[in-house]
Amino acid sequence: MSAIDIDQVSKRYGAVNVISDLSLKVQSGEFVAFLGPSGCGKSTLLRMIAGLERVDGGRISIGGERVDQLPPGARGVAMVFQHYALYPHMNIYDNMAFGLRNIALPAAEVDRRVREAARILEIEGLLERKPGQLSGGQRQRVAIGRALVKSPKAYLFDEPLSNLDAALRVRTRIELARLHQQFRATTIFVTHDQVEAMTLAERIVVMNARKVEQVGSPMEVYSRPASEFVARFVGSPAMNFLPVTISDRGGFAAARLGEGSDIVTRVPVNAPPQGAKLRLGLRAEAIRADPEGSLTGQIEVVERLGDRTHLYVRLKDGSSIVAEDKGLSDAATGAEARFRVDPEAAHLFDETGRAFHAA
Ligand code: ADP
Ligand code: MG
Repeated sequence: MSAIDIDQVSKRYGAVNVISDLSLKVQSGEFVAFLGPSGCGKSTLLRMIAGLERVDGGRISIGGERVDQLPPGARGVAMVFQHYALYPHMNIYDNMAFGLRNIALPAAEVDRRVREAARILEIEGLLERKPGQLSGGQRQRVAIGRALVKSPKAYLFDEPLSNLDAALRVRTRIELARLHQQFRATTIFVTHDQVEAMTLAERIVVMNARKVEQVGSPMEVYSRPASEFVARFVGSPAMNFLPVTISDRGGFAAARLGEGSDIVTRVPVNAPPQGAKLRLGLRAEAIRADPEGSLTGQIEVVERLGDRTHLYVRLKDGSSIVAEDKGLSDAATGAEARFRVDPEAAHLFDETGRAFHAA
């Protein structure tokens, strides 16, 4: 078990800064997700930790030892990729044993580790097969097994579930969660999928073009997004954003929508800069279908998800929002409906994307 300390790390490809001055501490035994859109630098950062890319500046330490000048094999980490390359001519046992034999581990110890990993991942029955005789999900488990047998100081996963079909992705996600609870190994998990990050990680590092937007627990990132970028990226359906003007209502910011109604938020009125152009941010679940509600609009699309219903609604000023209703909703396309807004769950964002939340 080992902490990972990233200290003011930078990376350039030619003239392009991919990572600038990024600092981050991952605690020993912690499960951290790097979450962000494609191209934001997640893999680059992970590969620098693994030693597959050079750092252009800064330091990386693992377990208190500086590693950024060490070759990958000397860093004591194991990496699992999206495109897991198994050796096609070797059986599964040999694929898992390969790295251990390379470091001349005694055969008995190699055997013990391979069988133990196979037992944990429930692939004992597959050890004699070749990779070509396995399903995608089974191959991905072998790739995870190859990491497990190394007993590394830390696991580095780069979108390991992206190639799996939806059902298998969920199952493997739960297996990874279980493995983490069992072994408490330091883990960094790179993904562009906010659901994976939310469900697996103890802390999420939300990245956006070269930098960290927010570091927080899944619930912090979800309910108190540090920026409009984070608010847009985390949560499905995406948060609603509506341009508003602000007035003082007992110390709180009352947000007037384009269609005329006021939503009295719990954001202190003096928090956002005076005169700023602001957007009100509301998640769908904060806008509930309710016959007593004060907001009215016309339902354009009804999405029935079983446990809940999403309503795509056109407000009187032409802006559109997505609201939520119960699973067995009687909402009908084309109907006028009323909605109640939860003022506690309202956020404000200024022109720079900075967020203001309920006090
Ligand atoms: P992510 O994993 O978040 O999708 P990457 O870390 O792979 O992003 O890439 C970050 C940026 O660096 C991208 O703009 C990508 O095009 C660029 N990049 C990555 N690897 C190289 C490379 N070897 N040479 C030049 N540019 C690269
Ligand atoms: Mg990547």
